Amino acid sequence: MRISQRLLGLAFASADTLLEIDADGVISMAIGAGPVPGVDPGTAWLGRPLTELLGKASGMVVNKALGEILPGIRSPHHDVVVVCDAERVRRARLRIFCLPDIAPAVSCALVYEGDAFCLAVPQAPPLLDAQGLINRVRVALDSGQASEDVALAFVDVPGLTGEGEAQQRMEARIQAALQSASVDGASAARLTQERFAVLRNQGDDAEPLSHCVREAGAAEGLDIQPTTTQAGIGSGLAPGLVMRALKVALEACIESGDTVRPDQVFSRNLKATLKEADRFSTIVQNRDFQLNFQPIIDLATGNVHHFEALARFGNEGPAGTVALAEDLGLIDKFDLAVAEKALQHMRRPGYGLARVAINISGVSLGSDAYIKALLKMTQPFPDIRSRLLVEVTETAAVSDLEGAERRLGALRRAGIRVCLDDFGVGAASFEYLQNLSVDTIKIDGSFIRDVATNQRSSVMLGHMVDLCRSLKITTIAEMIETEAQADKVRELGIDMGQGFYFGRPSVDLIAPEPVGRAPVRRRQGEVAGWA
Ligand code: C2E
Ligand code: MG
Ligand code: MG
Repeated sequence: MRISQRLLGLAFASADTLLEIDADGVISMAIGAGPVPGVDPGTAWLGRPLTELLGKASGMVVNKALGEILPGIRSPHHDVVVVCDAERVRRARLRIFCLPDIAPAVSCALVYEGDAFCLAVPQAPPLLDAQGLINRVRVALDSGQASEDVALAFVDVPGLTGEGEAQQRMEARIQAALQSASVDGASAARLTQERFAVLRNQGDDAEPLSHCVREAGAAEGLDIQPTTTQAGIGSGLAPGLVMRALKVALEACIESGDTVRPDQVFSRNLKATLKEADRFSTIVQNRDFQLNFQPIIDLATGNVHHFEALARFGNEGPAGTVALAEDLGLIDKFDLAVAEKALQHMRRPGYGLARVAINISGVSLGSDAYIKALLKMTQPFPDIRSRLLVEVTETAAVSDLEGAERRLGALRRAGIRVCLDDFGVGAASFEYLQNLSVDTIKIDGSFIRDVATNQRSSVMLGHMVDLCRSLKITTIAEMIETEAQADKVRELGIDMGQGFYFGRPSVDLIAPEPVGRAPVRRRQGEVAGWA
C-alpha cells in the first residue's frame, strides 16, 4: 500500500474533515464527512471561502489565524461554528497546519462536536418568579376555573449553569418550551437555578414536559436529564386562602433543595398550611384565646396610664400565630376578636376607667373592613372609644399610606387614639410618622435595651423625643427591664414606660404596685385621663 494512503488513514484518525485552503482562503480540496448527512464537503464546499462556512465570529478568528500561520507550524485548536444549511449549525474544532511544500496553501483538520442544532432560538414571554406564578393562579381561579382543575408541574433540570452561549440558548429554549406548555402560554416560573414550575390543567400529562426540555438541550448539542412531577392545588378552596397557602408551599419548594421531590414538598406544605388556617379560623371563631394585660406607666407619676392587651394561645406567645394569621389573610378577623374581648374586659364592673391598648396588624389597616367593624362595635359605648388605643404593629405591612391615614383618621375622629408600635425599626418609620397622624409612638425595645450604657442609643432617643414633642405626639418606651433604663428614659423626657420592670403581662387588668417616682395609689383599674 502506498504511504500516501496510509497517511490519509492516520489523518482521518484525528479529524472528521480534511481541507486544503489556497492563498486566497478558498477551499481547494475537501475530503471526509460533512457536518450533517447529505452535505458532502468534496462537492458542496469546494471553491468556497473557508470563512463562508463558518459563523461570523468563528470566520473572523480563523481568517486572522490563516494570515498568521508560518510554514512548518501548527495552530492551536480553534472552537468554531460550522454552518450546515440554512437552519442548522454544528460546533467543531479546527486546526491549521502549514506544510512548507504546499505553502502558501495550508491544511486544515475539522473535528465535529455534539449534534447539529438550530440557531434560531424561539422567543417566549419571560419566566415568572414564585409571586408571579401565584398571581397567574389567581387569574385562573378568578376566571372561573375551579382550584381542583389547576395543577403545578415541577421540572427539575440538573446541570443548568447559565454559563456560556450554548447554555444560555438552551435556557431560552427551555423557557419557550415551558411557557408554551403552560395553560395560557405565559404561566411558567423559575423557582431556582434548576427548578421550574408550570401552571397546567389537572388532566394534563406531565411527561411530555421532560421531552420538550430534553429536546431543548439536544438542539444545542447538550445532554440534559430533566425530571418532571405534578401536584394538584386542591378542591373547593377560597381563592384568598389558596394564594397564601401557595406562597408558603412554593417557598418550601424553593428552599427544599434539589434532591427532594418538589411535588411532595409542595403538597405537604399546602396541606399543612390549609390545616393551620383551618385550626386558626376555629380558634378565632370560638374565641379560643386569652388576653393578658401589661401596664404602661406614666413616667412622671409612676402610675398606671393604661394597659396593653396581649394575645395568648394557651401557654404560647402570640408572635408566631400572629405572623401566620397575617400570612393567611386572617389577621383582621383575629384583631377584631381581640378588640371584642378587650371591650368585654373594659365593660366589667369596676373597670369603668381602665384604658386599654389593642394591637392591630398593619395588614388589618390595609382594608376598610377592620375599621368599619371596630367603629360599629364601639358605637354604643362612646366612653369606651375614649379609653381605647389602637397600636399598629407590623407597620412594614402598610403599603398604602394614604388609605392607612384615612382609616386611622376615622378612628381618631371617633375618639379612639392611635399609636405606632415598634417605632424606629425598619427604614420607613419616619415615613410613617410623616404620613400618618398618630397620637403616640412606642419606641422599639431595641433602642431601650442599652440606653443606660450606650451613649449613641440615648442620643438617638433624645432626638426622637424632641421630634415627637414638636409634632405633639406622646412617647412610650417599651421593654424596660431595669431601674437604670427606667431612670434614663424618664430623664430623656419619654412620657410613658412599659416592661418587666414595671409589670409583666397578667390575666387581669390589675394595676401593679407603683414603681419609680412619685407613686400615687389608685383603685384597681382606675386611671386618669389620656392627657
Ligand atoms: P408588641 O406589641 O411590641 O408587644 C410587646 C411584647 O414585648 C409582648 O410580647 C410583651 O410580653 C413583651 N414584653 C413586654 N415587656 C417586656 C420586657 O421588659 N422584656 C421583654 N423581653 N419583653 C417584654 P408578646 O406578648 O409575646 O407579643 C409579641 C408581639 O405579638 C407583640 O409585640 C405584637 O406585635 C404581637 N401581638 C400580641 N398580641 C396581638 C394581638 O392581639 N393582635 C396583633 N395583631 N398582634 C399581637
Ligand atoms: Mg404592641
Ligand atoms: Mg412593640
